[in-house]
Amino acid sequence: MAIKFEADAKKWLTMGYRPLEIEREIRDFWEKNRIAEKLMKLRERENIDVLGYVEGPPTLNGVPHIGHARGRVMKDLRYRWKSMQGYYIPFWAGWDCQGLPVELEVEKLLGVKNKRELLERVGEERFVEECKKTIMKYYSYWREADRKLGLFMTYDREYWTYLDHYIEREWKYLKRAWEQGLLGEGYYVVAYCPGCQTSLSNAEVGLGYEEVEDPSLYFKFKVAGKDDEYFLIWTTMPFTIITDLMIAVHPSAEYAKVKVGEEYWIMARQRVELLMQELKIEEYSITKTFLGKELEGLKYEYPFKDLIPKQTELDKLPNVHRVVCEEFVDVNTATGVVHLSPGNGEEDFEAAMKRNVPIYVPFDDECNFTDDAGEFSGLFARDADEKVIEELHRRGLLVHVEKVRHEYPTCWRSHHKLIWLARREYFLWTNKINDKIVEAAEKVRYFYEGPKNRFLAFLKEAKPWCISRERVWGTPLPIWVCENCGHKILVSSKKEILEKALPDPATGKKPELPELHKPWIDRVFFECEKCGGRMRREPYVLDTWHNSGASPYARFTDEEFERFVPVDFLVEAIDQTRGWANTLLLEHVILTGKPEAPYKAFLFYGFALDAKGRKMSKSLGNVIEVNPLLEGNSADLCRFYILWKCSPIDSMSFDIEEVKRRPYQILSTLYHLHRFFYQNAEYDGFDPKRHNLNWTEENDLLRAPERWLLSKLQGTIEEVTRRFESCEFNFAVSALEKFIVDNVSREYVPMIRRELWTDDPQTLNRRLAIYATLWHVLKTSLLLFNPATPFITEFLYQKVFRAFDNSLPESINFERWPVPEEKFKNPQLEEEFDILMKTISVSYAARQAGRLKRRWPLRKAVVVAPKRVIESLENFKELFLELANVKEAEFAESIPEDLAGEHWISATEEEIQILLDTRRDKTLIGEGLMRDLARRIQALRKELGFVPTEILNEAHVAMLGQEKVELLSSFLEEMAELVRVKKIRVYPDKPEIRGLEWHQYELDGENILIAIT
Ligand SMILES: [Zn+2]
Ligand SMILES: [Zn+2]
Repeated sequence: MAIKFEADAKKWLTMGYRPLEIEREIRDFWEKNRIAEKLMKLRERENIDVLGYVEGPPTLNGVPHIGHARGRVMKDLRYRWKSMQGYYIPFWAGWDCQGLPVELEVEKLLGVKNKRELLERVGEERFVEECKKTIMKYYSYWREADRKLGLFMTYDREYWTYLDHYIEREWKYLKRAWEQGLLGEGYYVVAYCPGCQTSLSNAEVGLGYEEVEDPSLYFKFKVAGKDDEYFLIWTTMPFTIITDLMIAVHPSAEYAKVKVGEEYWIMARQRVELLMQELKIEEYSITKTFLGKELEGLKYEYPFKDLIPKQTELDKLPNVHRVVCEEFVDVNTATGVVHLSPGNGEEDFEAAMKRNVPIYVPFDDECNFTDDAGEFSGLFARDADEKVIEELHRRGLLVHVEKVRHEYPTCWRSHHKLIWLARREYFLWTNKINDKIVEAAEKVRYFYEGPKNRFLAFLKEAKPWCISRERVWGTPLPIWVCENCGHKILVSSKKEILEKALPDPATGKKPELPELHKPWIDRVFFECEKCGGRMRREPYVLDTWHNSGASPYARFTDEEFERFVPVDFLVEAIDQTRGWANTLLLEHVILTGKPEAPYKAFLFYGFALDAKGRKMSKSLGNVIEVNPLLEGNSADLCRFYILWKCSPIDSMSFDIEEVKRRPYQILSTLYHLHRFFYQNAEYDGFDPKRHNLNWTEENDLLRAPERWLLSKLQGTIEEVTRRFESCEFNFAVSALEKFIVDNVSREYVPMIRRELWTDDPQTLNRRLAIYATLWHVLKTSLLLFNPATPFITEFLYQKVFRAFDNSLPESINFERWPVPEEKFKNPQLEEEFDILMKTISVSYAARQAGRLKRRWPLRKAVVVAPKRVIESLENFKELFLELANVKEAEFAESIPEDLAGEHWISATEEEIQILLDTRRDKTLIGEGLMRDLARRIQALRKELGFVPTEILNEAHVAMLGQEKVELLSSFLEEMAELVRVKKIRVYPDKPEIRGLEWHQYELDGENILIAIT
């Protein structure tokens, strides 16, 4: 069913390329006719195969910026391209709605500073409502950006990660983990953000390194029972001395006892000289060296026993405040002696577990010290640093302190310095199945080595995944624990929860569960099947990355999951190696038990920077938001630029001024080529159904330029397809740039332009053959451009191709992706044309040397070149004369002897030398003059808005002087034909003719006047 393309069909012919108007018109066209939805239905009905897709859901906590646009353009490109190839892809939207990022955005909007204030002042019920309102607000911004960008994503099957049925399916992953013993509770050292008051996953820690200032502290611990022996230790976190329980040395490294003043300090042997230099100690001597293992078991005097009664208690336990040997101790930095705080460090924690040393973690949820920390009670962890330093100083144990700036992990949301704390959390013990995970990841195609290596290296760290969060707006952890006997169960559906729920003792009714969120779900209690006690839910919600990572199963039905997963191709920003790419993989391996990723290919793309190459940030004020950007700028140009500027994996500096330069030229050339084709073809009564390439073959109407162009086209189809396949989008669009700008516009059109100027019926068939070629070449080019710049391609498809042939599909997107045709390939001809083009370019160089304009015809050119070149040029002598604009050509292997005189200029490039005869007689000068004037008349026609094919009445050229009028006299007819007027009139002076509108131009330094009627 063909739908008539609305709006004034011919208006565009008088305009230049105005992308904003085009895009407005095309957006309306797509929406009115539901083109995106029709495309999806079409491919669902007729396809060559199905390619699964699951949308990487944007978090609805902010507005889309140019970095997001970069990913979305690549997604859309892939979708349009694969759809054109005939694949069905469920390109359905999805939105990440829960978790810390949304909570923090809402906290900011509500003006609360931390979780405690939030719970007291706002309450969980209202907070959840505010979260929903906020995501809907940002949703509208994202939809607007998608619309502006021209995304063909569809929204009737979009998914929302906060809805009950999504959450229930997310729980299925946990159920599978629970069954396999991969989900459980544990004390573990996790990164904890004191601002957000929740722990972070290992993956999240990697997202937020920043340069911060910390104390750099050298201090001493005294060896017990000795008056003058000390361990020399270094730290940047003095507060951890409060929780110190052991010190560690490397067992096989060499240590030294160093005499400093009256004291002996123990440190790594290889560090002695550097440390003494750093501490500005000039007088010292090494009195003894020994291996680290000889220190094992040595007791040291913990200095703050008087301040912390708990430490006095702990001191009595075996292994506490003693030297232990650990392989992880690095003797290449600091002193090679490390103090261990099992409550504040991962390796420290493991060292303590091995030796049955208890974990001492005297912190509350805000990271303030509890009463267990004695004198330090009530202080925020990092605020205790100063007091610790003071106390060490008072005891004569401080050796040196200064400030250092160093990279330190901070919260990726709130920028607080993270603190490592041993906490009771829930974990997915993915470390137990890491072999499978790595095997799965190795089978995926990543397109570029850098991100692949980065991803695999990260996975190989094999850290367990801490999935519990002490927050509100997230998927609740569906584990209930008996308050009496500690028995635990995991449930995985709303139905199951409601069945098990105990009635409210006050009302006798089962509790209401309007949605699967806090606080409602926390009001549900079960009865323990073991002891009959009351079971309450573990108060945690899940890491939001678990929420989005569940999408391959949670967003589909069982049937769709079978059909679409593993999905064919995903593309996300490079930081998603630690984010979504990671959690998708871990959860899928847990769910299926197989060493298989839920995606077959994953393209990671680089960051977007500002025009000066700086990171975009709110504080710099240089964030480019999509919606305002596309309010006044073209989506096609931005899309093209994003793809063209650099490889997907590189950081992209986005410069809107640059967008308006080369990308504009390229798309403008595409536009004007179509206009040129349309106007000429329409004028000559071209009918694409009759005058197709078969017809040209049957009538033997194609000449070398057409055969060459068709051959070039095949190579372009091949290259664009191959580069799309390997995600080298920049090379793909550069191949299109080269074909349209160089091959079609700069090379082919000048070869045939003259043939099109005439309206001689004798040569009509030849002109129709040129149109048939241009029809095929331009239409194919549009199809190749379509995944990158869908607006201009749809526009030209409608205005040109559907205007000629309304039996074509309703939208360019319903067309099939071109495949190269063997019969058009002609490598030999391409090679010969390469030689021809190169020779022409040398002739231009020669003209430049002699200051001879290209429009001026010259008497003769001599080409001196090797035999191979000469033979090739002989085949295209006519074309050579035409393009070089000379009357006669001589091809020779060496300079002919009779070339005497000073009237020859020459230029040489590589093996080709060209000599041009600079002598111009009256005829040549007249012809050159005629062409100069013709060019100005053409420009005036354009300026005045005449359609190029329209034949005008008269053109008047005045103030030429007598000599020029005479020179022109024999070229007036040719000129009239060239500029499409019935009559040319030339005058030496300015004639008195009424009603003429004169326009002034310059010719060889003198003013002339032109008027057309
Ligand atoms: Zn935080
Ligand atoms: Zn129980």
